[in-house]
Formats: sequence, C-alpha cells, structure tokens
Amino acid sequence: MKQRIFWFLVSIMTFLLIYAWGARYDFSLGGPLVLRQLNLLFAVLGFFFFFLQFILSSRARLVEKGFGLNKMILKHRHVGRIALGFLILHPVFFFLFQGDVVIRGTSMIIGLIVLLGLMVTAALASLHKKLNLPYELWLNIHKANYVLFPLVLVHVFDRATPGTPLYYFWGVFTAVFFLLIVLIFRKEVDIRRNPYQVVEVKQEANDIWSLFLHGRPLDYQPGQFMYLRLLRKGMISSSHPFTISSSPTWNRLAVTIKNSGDFTATVKDTKPGDKAYVDAPYGVFSFLRCECKNIMFIAGGIGITPFISMIRYMYEEKISIPVTLLWANKSEEELCFRDELAKMEKEMDNLKVVYVMSRQEDWKMEKGRINRNIIEKYKTDKGGYDYFICGPPPMSKAVMAALKDMGVPKDKIHHELFEF
Ligand SMILES: Cc1cc2nc3c(=O)[nH]c(=O)nc-3n(C[C@H](O)[C@H](O)[C@H](O)COP(=O)(O)OP(=O)(O)OC[C@H]3O[C@@H](n4cnc5c(N)ncnc54)[C@H](O)[C@@H]3O)c2cc1C
Repeated sequence: MKQRIFWFLVSIMTFLLIYAWGARYDFSLGGPLVLRQLNLLFAVLGFFFFFLQFILSSRARLVEKGFGLNKMILKHRHVGRIALGFLILHPVFFFLFQGDVVIRGTSMIIGLIVLLGLMVTAALASLHKKLNLPYELWLNIHKANYVLFPLVLVHVFDRATPGTPLYYFWGVFTAVFFLLIVLIFRKEVDIRRNPYQVVEVKQEANDIWSLFLHGRPLDYQPGQFMYLRLLRKGMISSSHPFTISSSPTWNRLAVTIKNSGDFTATVKDTKPGDKAYVDAPYGVFSFLRCECKNIMFIAGGIGITPFISMIRYMYEEKISIPVTLLWANKSEEELCFRDELAKMEKEMDNLKVVYVMSRQEDWKMEKGRINRNIIEKYKTDKGGYDYFICGPPPMSKAVMAALKDMGVPKDKIHHELFEF
C-alpha cells in the first residue's frame, strides 16, 4: 500500500472517531462540560494510535511494500509518542475535570496499570542506548505491548456504551488486532516448517563472513533484506536483519555479516548443515524501484551488501545502466568481494568501482572520506543520477549533506540504514 493511501485512511479514521465522540455531546452546554468530555476524546485517539502501533511494527507485507520497514519503524516511533501523549492526557483530564479523584473499579485500575506499562516500554525504547541495554532485552520487554493491548480492551469495553458508534469502532479494532495475531502466528509456523539449510560458510575478510543458504525459492529484489535466525546445536538464535547479498538470479541465498556484537560474533561458528529460519523479503532499497538513468552507489564498510547484490544482478542480467560504486573503508584489509568486483568491472562496460581509504597512507586510489569533491569527480556530466547510500550513520549524514549542497533533489537520494 502506498504511504499516501495509508495516511489518508488514517486521517479519515481519525476524523470519523472525532465525529463519533462529538456526536455524543451537546457542546452548547459550555466550557467546563466540554473540558470534562475531552478526556474521552484523548482516550479515543490514544487507543486508535496505540492500535496503529501494531500495524506499523507488524512487518505486514501490504503496508511494508509502500514504506520500507525502516520507515515503518520510524513512523511507529512517532505514532507511539502521540499515542502515549493522548493516553496520559486521558486520566489527567478525567481527574481534573470530573471532580472525582477516587480510583474505583477493576477496569480503572487496569487502565492505570496499562498506562504505567506503556510509559515503561516507551521509556526503554527511547533510552535503551543510553542505558546500555542489550538490544534483544529491551525489544522483548517492548513486545509486552501485545499483552497490554488486550488489557486496554478490558478497560475500553467496561467503560464504553453498547450500541454507540464508538462501541462498534472498538469492535472492529479488536477484530483486526486478533486477526493480526493470527497472521503473525501463521507466518511463524510457515517459516518454522520451511527452514533453509546452510550450505557454505565463507570468510570474506578478517571479521566478515558469508552464509549461503539453500531452501525454497524466494522472490526478492536485489538490495532487499531478510530477518535471519540460525538453528545451531539445537538452539535458535535471536532474529536479526541482514541484507540478502546474493543476486535473485542465484539458486541459493547469501548474507554477508560483519562481527559487530553478540550474535554476529558467532556467525563464524555456523556449520554447513545448520538450519536457518528466514523471514523475507523486506525493504525498498533497490534500483529496480526507480527509473534510473545513471546510478551512484555510495557504501561505507559492510554497507556494501545491498550494492553487491544489485551489481551481481546487473552483471547476470546484463543491465546496462551506468553505475559508479564509491566504497569507503579504513584500509584494504577490510575489503571483501574485491576479486569479484574487479572481474565484473572488467566485463561490464557500465561499472566503475572506486575504493576510498580513510586510514591507509600508501593507498593509490582515493584517500580520506567520501565528500562532495569525490562525488563530483566520478560523476559524468550526463546528469540524471540516482544516489544510493548505505553505511555508518556519520558517513550517511555527511554524504546526504554533500548531495543536498550539490542541489540533488530529495527523490533522487535513496538511503538504507543498518539500524532501526
Ligand atoms: C535493514 C538492515 C540490513 C542490515 N544488513 C546487514 C548486513 O548485510 N550485514 C551486516 O553485517 N549487518 C547488517 N545489518 C546490521 C545487523 O542487523 C546488526 O549488526 C546485527 O543485528 C547486530 O546484532 P549483534 O547481536 O551482533 O549486536 P548487538 O550488540 O546486539 O547490536 C548492535 C546494534 O545492531 C542493531 N541490532 C541488533 N539486533 C538487532 C535486531 N534484532 N534488529 C535490528 N537491529 C538490531 C542495533 O542497532 C544494535 O545497537 C543490517 C541491519 C538492518 C536494519
């Protein structure tokens, strides 16, 4: 679903909910009464935006296709803040203007427990880096929201008046939420029933390893990514996102992984014959999604993976769009795919590979960091470039600023982040 359509539907639904709330009251009664009823409006909007959270974080293919998962998760964060804001205002206005500060009834206590739970999960999501919490730990705590939502339903149905339009809306949201749970469960069963098998483990550089997987065919675009879990010695790992570094024309999947933490440090211990659970494909970072005349790929370190997939695909499919790859690393020891890139560059008239080293004095090609000078140096004057960037956040930021300086339109800059 296109982003615009999604947000249009959300706006319509928000309007209908406000209308359904407003239809209950006679606003001619004046100020204090309206203020009193605002608590319900905040509850209605807070509930709706909380519900949207599950759609935005569900990896639902229908929505993901239009957004890309990175953007969906970014929106999930923004919408989450709005939901929490409304849900906090709900009891504040209730207690301030209801003239009744006594907490009565199980459903009210449940409502307050849910609010507290949401505040904790939201705080952990915002502060996990500062608190140095392991990624999986805060993510699993965050998933408690799937338990908090049914509790919200208990609160909502206890307070709502049967037969009103709002009551029917709650019914629809409840049905969609449980349908989503069923779909997530079904997908999990399907993934578990159709594991891939690791057929090769290859060291590409000092701390970079490729895993080659064989299993059911996957329909993906070069540049997309998968969620991967490995089943080794009877233990299932946590799920991590990795770009699919193979070309869709291959009969096996590949991922190329740099050691950067707990899980990635263990990739080298994977053995042929181990199983892999693959949830894919995700993402919208592919040259196939735009009508590109000239392409510049700008990679930093392991950010090469979507580009190697796209270049492999172009090579095999004999796609003749002119492509320049600028690839930044500290030194040549970090390079992988070097021979393969050299071979493809030699055989493809349309590919130019430029290595940029930031910490290697004796390097003969470009030295330093990728900046406006380097980008302009390797651009031909044919114009009409699409820029694809994938690398560490500081590099991506600097390159985006340089492109903005050069007056490149926003829709010509495509960007993939390796963190959510
Ligand atoms: C779309 C996408 C594509 C990626 N492609 C590649 C690739 O081709 N090759 C590669 O080496 N790396 C890739 N990464 C990064 C890779 O997912 C992380 O390096 C890996 O998950 C780190 O896990 P860890 O346990 O080793 O490290 P940790 O120390 O647990 O985490 C280090 C950082 O990695 C990120 N991270 C960890 N776990 C997850 C998770 N489950 N979901 C999302 N982010 C997580 C977090 O930002 C965290 O701060 C990609 C990331 C994304 C989002």
